[in-house]
Amino acid sequence: MTVSYWQKRYFSGRSLPPKTEHARDRYDIAVIGGGISGIATAYFLKKFGCDNVVVLEKNYIGYGATGRNAGFILSGLAEPYSRLIVAMGEESAREIMNSTMENHDLIESAVSENKIDCHYDKCGSYHLATGELERKELEESTEMMIKHGFDVEYQPKVPGKAKDRLSGYLGGFFNPADGKIDPFAFVNGLAAGIEVVTDFEVTGIEKKHGAVEIRGDNVRIEAEMAILAVNAYAPLLDKYFSDLVFPVRGQMLATSPLPANILGESIYYANFGYDYFRQFDDHALIMGGLRNRFFKNETGYEDIISDDLQRALEEYITANFGLSGFGIDERWGGVMGNTIDGLPLIGSLPHNSSVLAMVGFNGHGFGMGMVTARDLARAVMTGENSDLLKRFSIKRLSR
Ligand SMILES: Cc1cc2nc3c(=O)[nH]c(=O)nc-3n(C[C@H](O)[C@H](O)[C@H](O)COP(=O)(O)OP(=O)(O)OC[C@H]3O[C@@H](n4cnc5c(N)ncnc54)[C@H](O)[C@@H]3O)c2cc1C
Repeated sequence: MTVSYWQKRYFSGRSLPPKTEHARDRYDIAVIGGGISGIATAYFLKKFGCDNVVVLEKNYIGYGATGRNAGFILSGLAEPYSRLIVAMGEESAREIMNSTMENHDLIESAVSENKIDCHYDKCGSYHLATGELERKELEESTEMMIKHGFDVEYQPKVPGKAKDRLSGYLGGFFNPADGKIDPFAFVNGLAAGIEVVTDFEVTGIEKKHGAVEIRGDNVRIEAEMAILAVNAYAPLLDKYFSDLVFPVRGQMLATSPLPANILGESIYYANFGYDYFRQFDDHALIMGGLRNRFFKNETGYEDIISDDLQRALEEYITANFGLSGFGIDERWGGVMGNTIDGLPLIGSLPHNSSVLAMVGFNGHGFGMGMVTARDLARAVMTGENSDLLKRFSIKRLSR
Protein backbone atom coordinates (compact mmCIF):
# COMPACT_ATOMS: atom_id res chain seq x y z
CA MET A 1 0.00 0.00 0.00
CA THR A 2 1.36 3.43 -0.88
CA VAL A 3 0.73 6.74 0.88
CA SER A 4 0.89 10.04 -0.94
CA TYR A 5 2.86 13.10 0.03
CA TRP A 6 -0.45 14.89 0.78
CA GLN A 7 -1.84 12.08 2.93
CA LYS A 8 1.39 11.77 4.91
CA ARG A 9 1.61 15.54 5.43
CA TYR A 10 -1.99 15.77 6.61
CA PHE A 11 -1.76 12.88 9.04
CA SER A 12 1.57 13.84 10.57
CA GLY A 13 0.88 15.43 13.94
CA ARG A 14 -2.84 14.60 13.65
CA SER A 15 -4.64 11.56 14.89
CA LEU A 16 -6.58 9.54 12.36
CA PRO A 17 -10.27 10.37 12.36
CA PRO A 18 -12.16 7.94 14.59
CA LYS A 19 -13.57 4.96 12.75
CA THR A 20 -17.33 5.30 12.45
CA GLU A 21 -18.88 2.06 13.66
CA HIS A 22 -22.55 2.66 12.95
CA ALA A 23 -24.49 4.47 10.34
CA ARG A 24 -28.16 5.27 10.81
CA ASP A 25 -30.68 2.86 9.24
CA ARG A 26 -32.18 5.26 6.77
CA TYR A 27 -31.09 8.34 4.80
CA ASP A 28 -32.65 10.37 2.03
CA ILE A 29 -29.50 10.10 -0.05
CA ALA A 30 -26.42 7.91 0.37
CA VAL A 31 -23.38 8.95 -1.61
CA ILE A 32 -20.86 6.16 -2.11
CA GLY A 33 -17.22 7.26 -2.30
CA GLY A 34 -15.37 9.87 -0.25
CA GLY A 35 -13.27 11.49 -2.99
CA ILE A 36 -13.81 14.94 -4.48
CA SER A 37 -16.84 13.85 -6.51
CA GLY A 38 -18.65 12.19 -3.58
CA ILE A 39 -17.79 14.78 -0.94
CA ALA A 40 -18.63 17.66 -3.31
CA THR A 41 -21.96 16.05 -4.20
CA ALA A 42 -22.90 15.77 -0.51
CA TYR A 43 -21.64 19.33 0.06
CA PHE A 44 -23.91 20.73 -2.66
CA LEU A 45 -26.85 18.49 -1.70
CA LYS A 46 -26.70 20.10 1.74
CA LYS A 47 -26.46 23.54 0.18
CA PHE A 48 -29.58 22.79 -1.89
CA GLY A 49 -31.46 21.78 1.28
CA CYS A 50 -30.96 18.03 1.73
CA ASP A 51 -30.05 17.48 5.38
CA ASN A 52 -30.33 13.73 5.55
CA VAL A 53 -27.38 12.76 3.39
CA VAL A 54 -24.46 10.45 4.17
CA VAL A 55 -21.21 9.59 2.43
CA LEU A 56 -20.14 5.96 2.71
CA GLU A 57 -16.41 5.50 2.20
CA LYS A 58 -14.48 2.22 2.04
CA ASN A 59 -11.35 3.63 3.70
CA TYR A 60 -11.00 7.29 4.67
CA ILE A 61 -11.85 10.60 3.00
CA GLY A 62 -9.44 11.17 0.12
CA TYR A 63 -8.09 7.63 0.13
CA GLY A 64 -8.49 7.28 -3.66
CA ALA A 65 -7.12 9.36 -6.55
CA THR A 66 -8.33 12.52 -4.79
CA GLY A 67 -5.65 12.19 -2.13
CA ARG A 68 -2.96 11.00 -4.53
CA ASN A 69 -2.97 13.42 -7.42
CA ALA A 70 -0.79 16.36 -8.42
CA GLY A 71 -3.24 18.99 -7.18
CA PHE A 72 -3.51 20.76 -10.53
CA ILE A 73 -6.73 22.66 -11.15
CA LEU A 74 -6.78 22.81 -14.92
CA SER A 75 -9.31 24.19 -17.33
CA GLY A 76 -10.35 22.16 -20.34
CA LEU A 77 -9.72 18.47 -20.82
CA ALA A 78 -6.46 16.53 -21.15
CA GLU A 79 -6.10 17.30 -24.87
CA PRO A 80 -5.07 20.70 -26.26
CA TYR A 81 -8.03 22.94 -27.16
CA SER A 82 -7.37 22.48 -30.90
CA ARG A 83 -8.03 18.74 -30.55
CA LEU A 84 -11.19 19.38 -28.55
CA ILE A 85 -12.47 21.53 -31.37
CA VAL A 86 -11.78 18.78 -33.93
CA ALA A 87 -13.51 16.22 -31.70
CA MET A 88 -16.60 18.19 -30.65
CA GLY A 89 -16.78 21.49 -32.55
CA GLU A 90 -16.04 25.07 -31.50
CA GLU A 91 -19.20 25.70 -29.50
CA SER A 92 -18.88 22.54 -27.40
CA ALA A 93 -15.17 23.07 -26.79
CA ARG A 94 -15.90 26.58 -25.56
CA GLU A 95 -18.70 25.33 -23.28
CA ILE A 96 -16.45 22.66 -21.74
CA MET A 97 -13.76 25.28 -21.15
CA ASN A 98 -16.27 27.60 -19.49
CA SER A 99 -17.58 24.81 -17.25
CA THR A 100 -14.11 23.90 -16.07
CA MET A 101 -13.41 27.56 -15.29
CA GLU A 102 -16.65 27.68 -13.32
CA ASN A 103 -15.41 24.55 -11.53
CA HIS A 104 -12.32 26.47 -10.47
CA ASP A 105 -14.49 29.33 -9.17
CA LEU A 106 -16.45 26.80 -7.08
CA ILE A 107 -13.22 25.46 -5.56
CA GLU A 108 -12.03 28.99 -4.82
CA SER A 109 -15.34 29.90 -3.13
CA ALA A 110 -15.40 26.67 -1.12
CA VAL A 111 -11.85 27.31 0.11
CA SER A 112 -12.69 30.81 1.25
CA GLU A 113 -16.23 30.14 2.59
CA ASN A 114 -15.06 27.17 4.65
CA LYS A 115 -11.61 28.59 5.45
CA ILE A 116 -9.89 25.44 4.19
CA ASP A 117 -6.15 25.47 4.78
CA CYS A 118 -5.03 23.70 1.58
CA HIS A 119 -2.31 25.86 -0.03
CA TYR A 120 -4.69 26.89 -2.81
CA ASP A 121 -3.18 29.35 -5.28
CA LYS A 122 -4.46 30.58 -8.65
CA CYS A 123 -0.91 30.43 -9.99
CA GLY A 124 -1.60 29.73 -13.66
CA SER A 125 -0.42 26.65 -15.56
CA TYR A 126 2.02 25.96 -18.35
CA HIS A 127 1.45 23.26 -20.92
CA LEU A 128 5.04 22.85 -22.15
CA ALA A 129 5.85 21.65 -25.67
CA THR A 130 8.18 18.67 -25.89
CA GLY A 131 8.35 18.68 -29.71
CA GLU A 132 7.30 20.53 -32.84
CA LEU A 133 3.90 18.82 -33.15
CA GLU A 134 2.95 19.73 -29.59
CA ARG A 135 4.22 23.30 -30.04
CA LYS A 136 2.15 23.71 -33.21
CA GLU A 137 -0.97 22.34 -31.53
CA LEU A 138 -0.47 24.54 -28.49
CA GLU A 139 0.01 27.63 -30.64
CA GLU A 140 -3.16 26.77 -32.59
CA SER A 141 -4.97 26.22 -29.30
CA THR A 142 -3.80 29.61 -28.06
CA GLU A 143 -5.16 31.31 -31.19
CA MET A 144 -8.52 29.54 -30.92
CA MET A 145 -8.87 30.26 -27.23
CA ILE A 146 -8.11 33.94 -27.72
CA LYS A 147 -10.69 33.98 -30.52
CA HIS A 148 -13.19 32.47 -28.05
CA GLY A 149 -12.49 35.18 -25.50
CA PHE A 150 -10.08 33.38 -23.14
CA ASP A 151 -7.11 35.21 -21.72
CA VAL A 152 -4.19 32.88 -22.57
CA GLU A 153 -0.84 33.22 -24.30
CA TYR A 154 1.93 31.18 -25.88
CA GLN A 155 5.31 32.00 -24.37
CA PRO A 156 8.38 30.94 -26.40
CA LYS A 157 10.31 30.72 -23.10
CA VAL A 158 9.02 30.18 -19.57
CA PRO A 159 9.87 33.43 -17.77
CA GLY A 160 11.07 34.01 -14.21
CA LYS A 161 12.88 31.63 -11.89
CA ALA A 162 12.16 28.55 -13.99
CA LYS A 163 13.56 30.07 -17.22
CA ASP A 164 16.92 28.28 -17.21
CA ARG A 165 15.71 25.02 -15.74
CA LEU A 166 12.93 24.65 -18.31
CA SER A 167 14.88 25.90 -21.34
CA GLY A 168 14.80 22.44 -22.95
CA TYR A 169 11.07 22.76 -23.75
CA LEU A 170 9.88 24.61 -26.85
CA GLY A 171 8.02 27.17 -24.81
CA GLY A 172 4.60 26.79 -23.34
CA PHE A 173 0.92 27.63 -23.43
CA PHE A 174 0.17 29.71 -20.32
CA ASN A 175 -3.30 29.79 -18.81
CA PRO A 176 -3.51 32.27 -15.90
CA ALA A 177 -6.94 30.89 -14.90
CA ASP A 178 -5.49 27.61 -13.58
CA GLY A 179 -4.25 26.84 -10.09
CA LYS A 180 -2.83 24.43 -7.53
CA ILE A 181 -3.99 22.96 -4.27
CA ASP A 182 -3.22 20.33 -1.64
CA PRO A 183 -6.03 18.00 -2.81
CA PHE A 184 -6.19 15.88 0.36
CA ALA A 185 -6.43 18.87 2.69
CA PHE A 186 -9.07 20.37 0.41
CA VAL A 187 -11.37 17.35 0.34
CA ASN A 188 -11.06 16.83 4.08
CA GLY A 189 -11.87 20.50 4.66
CA LEU A 190 -14.85 20.29 2.32
CA ALA A 191 -16.12 17.27 4.28
CA ALA A 192 -16.37 19.17 7.56
CA GLY A 193 -20.05 19.31 8.42
CA ILE A 194 -20.94 16.33 6.23
CA GLU A 195 -21.85 12.98 7.76
CA VAL A 196 -19.24 10.54 6.48
CA VAL A 197 -19.10 6.89 7.50
CA THR A 198 -15.56 5.66 6.96
CA ASP A 199 -14.40 2.03 6.74
CA PHE A 200 -17.73 1.24 5.10
CA GLU A 201 -17.25 -0.80 1.95
CA VAL A 202 -20.44 -1.02 -0.03
CA THR A 203 -20.75 -4.55 -1.36
CA GLY A 204 -24.12 -4.32 -3.07
CA ILE A 205 -27.07 -2.06 -3.83
CA GLU A 206 -30.54 -3.45 -4.38
CA LYS A 207 -33.95 -2.04 -5.20
CA LYS A 208 -36.33 -2.04 -2.25
CA HIS A 209 -39.87 -0.61 -2.30
CA GLY A 210 -38.99 2.19 -4.73
CA ALA A 211 -35.83 2.98 -2.73
CA VAL A 212 -32.51 1.18 -2.33
CA GLU A 213 -30.92 -1.10 0.22
CA ILE A 214 -27.17 -0.65 0.51
CA ARG A 215 -25.17 -3.54 1.88
CA GLY A 216 -21.92 -3.28 3.75
CA ASP A 217 -20.10 -5.71 5.99
CA ASN A 218 -22.92 -6.95 8.27
CA VAL A 219 -24.76 -3.62 7.86
CA ARG A 220 -27.71 -2.62 5.73
CA ILE A 221 -28.79 0.93 5.07
CA GLU A 222 -31.88 2.16 3.27
CA ALA A 223 -31.98 5.33 1.21
CA GLU A 224 -34.39 6.97 -1.21
CA MET A 225 -31.50 7.22 -3.62
CA ALA A 226 -27.84 6.21 -3.92
CA ILE A 227 -25.20 8.18 -5.79
CA LEU A 228 -22.19 6.21 -6.96
CA ALA A 229 -19.11 8.42 -6.83
CA VAL A 230 -16.43 5.75 -6.86
CA ASN A 231 -14.75 6.74 -10.14
CA ALA A 232 -12.33 3.97 -11.23
CA TYR A 233 -13.88 1.48 -8.78
CA ALA A 234 -17.33 1.56 -10.44
CA PRO A 235 -16.92 -1.79 -12.28
CA LEU A 236 -16.15 -3.50 -8.95
CA LEU A 237 -19.49 -2.36 -7.57
CA ASP A 238 -21.67 -2.70 -10.65
CA LYS A 239 -20.84 -4.86 -13.66
CA TYR A 240 -22.65 -2.36 -15.89
CA PHE A 241 -19.43 -0.31 -15.83
CA SER A 242 -17.14 -3.19 -16.78
CA ASP A 243 -16.62 -2.01 -20.33
CA LEU A 244 -17.28 1.68 -19.66
CA VAL A 245 -14.76 2.66 -16.97
CA PHE A 246 -11.13 1.49 -17.06
CA PRO A 247 -8.76 1.68 -14.08
CA VAL A 248 -5.37 3.14 -15.00
CA ARG A 249 -2.56 3.81 -12.56
CA GLY A 250 -0.63 7.04 -12.21
CA GLN A 251 2.59 7.13 -10.20
CA MET A 252 4.20 10.09 -8.48
CA LEU A 253 7.10 11.01 -6.26
CA ALA A 254 8.06 13.89 -3.98
CA THR A 255 11.71 14.78 -3.52
CA SER A 256 13.07 15.86 -0.17
CA PRO A 257 12.74 19.64 0.07
CA LEU A 258 15.29 21.25 -2.30
CA PRO A 259 17.46 24.11 -0.98
CA ALA A 260 15.48 26.65 -3.02
CA ASN A 261 12.55 27.20 -5.32
CA ILE A 262 13.81 26.48 -8.83
CA LEU A 263 10.54 26.08 -10.77
CA GLY A 264 8.70 29.22 -9.73
CA GLU A 265 5.14 29.22 -8.43
CA SER A 266 3.40 27.76 -11.47
CA ILE A 267 2.39 24.20 -12.29
CA TYR A 268 3.65 22.44 -15.40
CA TYR A 269 2.50 19.66 -17.61
CA ALA A 270 4.11 18.54 -20.82
CA ASN A 271 4.01 15.88 -23.50
CA PHE A 272 0.21 16.16 -23.88
CA GLY A 273 -0.28 15.85 -20.13
CA TYR A 274 1.80 12.69 -19.64
CA ASP A 275 4.51 14.53 -17.64
CA TYR A 276 3.52 16.84 -14.78
CA PHE A 277 5.44 18.60 -12.05
CA ARG A 278 5.38 21.44 -9.54
CA GLN A 279 7.30 22.55 -6.50
CA PHE A 280 5.51 22.76 -3.17
CA ASP A 281 5.89 25.56 -0.61
CA ASP A 282 8.49 23.54 1.34
CA HIS A 283 10.45 23.28 -1.98
CA ALA A 284 9.78 19.57 -2.44
CA LEU A 285 9.56 18.81 -6.15
CA ILE A 286 6.46 16.79 -6.92
CA MET A 287 6.45 14.92 -10.19
CA GLY A 288 4.23 12.32 -11.78
CA GLY A 289 3.20 10.71 -15.01
CA LEU A 290 5.25 8.98 -17.74
CA ARG A 291 2.62 6.25 -17.89
CA ASN A 292 2.75 6.51 -21.71
CA ARG A 293 6.12 4.72 -21.49
CA PHE A 294 4.66 1.86 -19.43
CA PHE A 295 1.08 1.57 -20.71
CA LYS A 296 0.97 -2.22 -20.45
CA ASN A 297 1.79 -2.35 -16.73
CA GLU A 298 0.02 0.74 -15.52
CA THR A 299 -3.54 -0.57 -15.35
CA GLY A 300 -5.66 -2.16 -12.64
CA TYR A 301 -6.51 -1.51 -9.01
CA GLU A 302 -3.34 -2.55 -7.20
CA ASP A 303 -1.97 0.17 -4.94
CA ILE A 304 1.66 -0.31 -5.94
CA ILE A 305 4.60 1.49 -7.49
CA SER A 306 7.16 0.03 -9.89
CA ASP A 307 10.94 0.44 -9.88
CA ASP A 308 11.20 1.12 -13.61
CA LEU A 309 8.64 3.93 -13.69
CA GLN A 310 9.96 5.49 -10.50
CA ARG A 311 13.50 5.38 -11.92
CA ALA A 312 12.22 7.04 -15.11
CA LEU A 313 10.71 9.86 -13.02
CA GLU A 314 14.06 10.46 -11.29
CA GLU A 315 15.90 10.39 -14.62
CA TYR A 316 13.41 12.88 -16.02
CA ILE A 317 14.15 15.29 -13.18
CA THR A 318 17.88 15.02 -13.79
CA ALA A 319 17.63 15.26 -17.59
CA ASN A 320 15.11 18.11 -17.73
CA PHE A 321 15.81 20.24 -14.67
CA GLY A 322 19.54 19.57 -14.27
CA LEU A 323 19.14 18.22 -10.73
CA SER A 324 21.12 15.38 -9.22
CA GLY A 325 21.79 13.97 -5.77
CA PHE A 326 18.28 14.74 -4.54
CA GLY A 327 16.55 12.55 -1.95
CA ILE A 328 13.07 11.08 -2.34
CA ASP A 329 10.63 11.46 0.55
CA GLU A 330 7.56 9.78 -0.88
CA ARG A 331 6.59 7.52 -3.78
CA TRP A 332 3.00 6.56 -4.48
CA GLY A 333 0.41 5.43 -6.99
CA GLY A 334 -3.24 6.23 -7.58
CA VAL A 335 -6.01 4.83 -9.76
CA MET A 336 -7.82 6.98 -12.32
CA GLY A 337 -11.05 6.01 -14.07
CA ASN A 338 -10.89 6.44 -17.84
CA THR A 339 -13.75 6.26 -20.33
CA ILE A 340 -13.55 5.62 -24.08
CA ASP A 341 -14.40 9.19 -25.07
CA GLY A 342 -12.51 10.93 -22.26
CA LEU A 343 -15.67 12.35 -20.65
CA PRO A 344 -17.30 11.45 -17.32
CA LEU A 345 -20.45 9.33 -17.11
CA ILE A 346 -23.30 10.89 -15.17
CA GLY A 347 -26.90 9.84 -14.74
CA SER A 348 -29.21 7.14 -13.48
CA LEU A 349 -28.42 3.49 -14.07
CA PRO A 350 -30.60 1.88 -16.75
CA HIS A 351 -31.30 -1.11 -14.46
CA ASN A 352 -32.02 0.90 -11.29
CA SER A 353 -33.33 4.43 -11.58
CA SER A 354 -32.83 5.00 -7.82
CA VAL A 355 -29.07 4.83 -8.34
CA LEU A 356 -27.25 7.74 -9.98
CA ALA A 357 -23.61 7.54 -11.01
CA MET A 358 -20.96 10.19 -11.50
CA VAL A 359 -17.76 8.40 -12.50
CA GLY A 360 -14.96 8.35 -15.09
CA PHE A 361 -13.10 11.62 -14.55
CA ASN A 362 -10.19 10.62 -16.82
CA GLY A 363 -7.45 12.15 -14.71
CA HIS A 364 -9.20 15.53 -14.43
CA GLY A 365 -11.44 15.30 -11.37
CA PHE A 366 -10.15 18.57 -9.95
CA GLY A 367 -10.96 20.27 -13.24
CA MET A 368 -14.56 19.06 -13.25
CA GLY A 369 -15.58 17.37 -10.00
CA MET A 370 -17.04 20.44 -8.29
CA VAL A 371 -19.13 21.73 -11.17
CA THR A 372 -20.52 18.29 -12.05
CA ALA A 373 -21.31 17.65 -8.37
CA ARG A 374 -23.07 21.02 -8.10
CA ASP A 375 -25.13 20.32 -11.22
CA LEU A 376 -25.97 16.77 -10.14
CA ALA A 377 -27.03 17.94 -6.67
CA ARG A 378 -29.21 20.65 -8.22
CA ALA A 379 -30.79 18.14 -10.62
CA VAL A 380 -31.60 15.81 -7.71
CA MET A 381 -33.10 18.56 -5.58
CA THR A 382 -34.89 20.64 -8.25
CA GLY A 383 -35.20 18.43 -11.34
CA GLU A 384 -33.23 20.98 -13.37
CA ASN A 385 -30.88 19.14 -15.74
CA SER A 386 -27.91 21.26 -16.89
CA ASP A 387 -26.35 21.22 -20.35
CA LEU A 388 -23.18 19.86 -18.78
CA LEU A 389 -25.04 16.89 -17.30
CA LYS A 390 -26.71 16.26 -20.66
CA ARG A 391 -23.30 16.29 -22.37
CA PHE A 392 -21.89 13.80 -19.87
CA SER A 393 -25.04 11.66 -19.76
CA ILE A 394 -24.49 7.97 -19.19
CA LYS A 395 -27.05 7.38 -21.94
CA ARG A 396 -24.58 8.40 -24.68
CA LEU A 397 -22.79 5.05 -24.20
CA SER A 398 -25.69 2.94 -22.98
CA ARG A 399 -26.29 -0.38 -24.63
C1 LIG B 1 -1.26 10.16 -9.96
C2 LIG B 1 -2.50 10.98 -10.28
C3 LIG B 1 -2.36 12.31 -10.59
C4 LIG B 1 -3.50 13.09 -10.88
N1 LIG B 1 -3.38 14.43 -11.05
C5 LIG B 1 -4.50 15.18 -11.20
C6 LIG B 1 -4.43 16.59 -11.22
O1 LIG B 1 -3.37 17.18 -11.02
N2 LIG B 1 -5.59 17.30 -11.44
C7 LIG B 1 -6.79 16.66 -11.62
O2 LIG B 1 -7.80 17.33 -11.87
N3 LIG B 1 -6.88 15.33 -11.53
C8 LIG B 1 -5.78 14.58 -11.32
N4 LIG B 1 -5.90 13.23 -11.18
C9 LIG B 1 -7.23 12.63 -11.27
C10 LIG B 1 -8.06 12.94 -10.03
O3 LIG B 1 -7.33 12.60 -8.88
C11 LIG B 1 -9.36 12.14 -10.12
O4 LIG B 1 -10.03 12.46 -11.32
C12 LIG B 1 -10.30 12.48 -8.97
O5 LIG B 1 -9.62 12.41 -7.75
C13 LIG B 1 -11.48 11.53 -8.97
O6 LIG B 1 -12.21 11.78 -7.80
P1 LIG B 1 -13.37 10.81 -7.36
O7 LIG B 1 -13.90 11.32 -6.11
O8 LIG B 1 -14.32 10.62 -8.50
O9 LIG B 1 -12.65 9.40 -7.17
P2 LIG B 1 -11.64 8.88 -5.98
O10 LIG B 1 -10.85 10.00 -5.44
O11 LIG B 1 -10.91 7.73 -6.54
O12 LIG B 1 -12.63 8.46 -4.86
C14 LIG B 1 -13.40 7.30 -4.93
C15 LIG B 1 -13.57 6.81 -3.50
O13 LIG B 1 -14.50 5.72 -3.51
C16 LIG B 1 -14.10 4.83 -2.51
N5 LIG B 1 -14.72 3.52 -2.82
C17 LIG B 1 -14.45 2.72 -3.85
N6 LIG B 1 -15.22 1.63 -3.80
C18 LIG B 1 -16.02 1.76 -2.72
C19 LIG B 1 -17.03 0.96 -2.14
N7 LIG B 1 -17.38 -0.22 -2.67
N8 LIG B 1 -17.65 1.39 -1.02
C20 LIG B 1 -17.31 2.59 -0.46
N9 LIG B 1 -16.34 3.39 -0.98
C21 LIG B 1 -15.71 2.97 -2.09
C22 LIG B 1 -12.59 4.81 -2.59
O14 LIG B 1 -11.99 4.36 -1.39
C23 LIG B 1 -12.28 6.27 -2.89
O15 LIG B 1 -11.99 7.02 -1.71
C24 LIG B 1 -4.77 12.44 -10.91
C25 LIG B 1 -4.90 11.09 -10.59
C26 LIG B 1 -3.77 10.36 -10.27
C27 LIG B 1 -3.94 8.91 -9.89
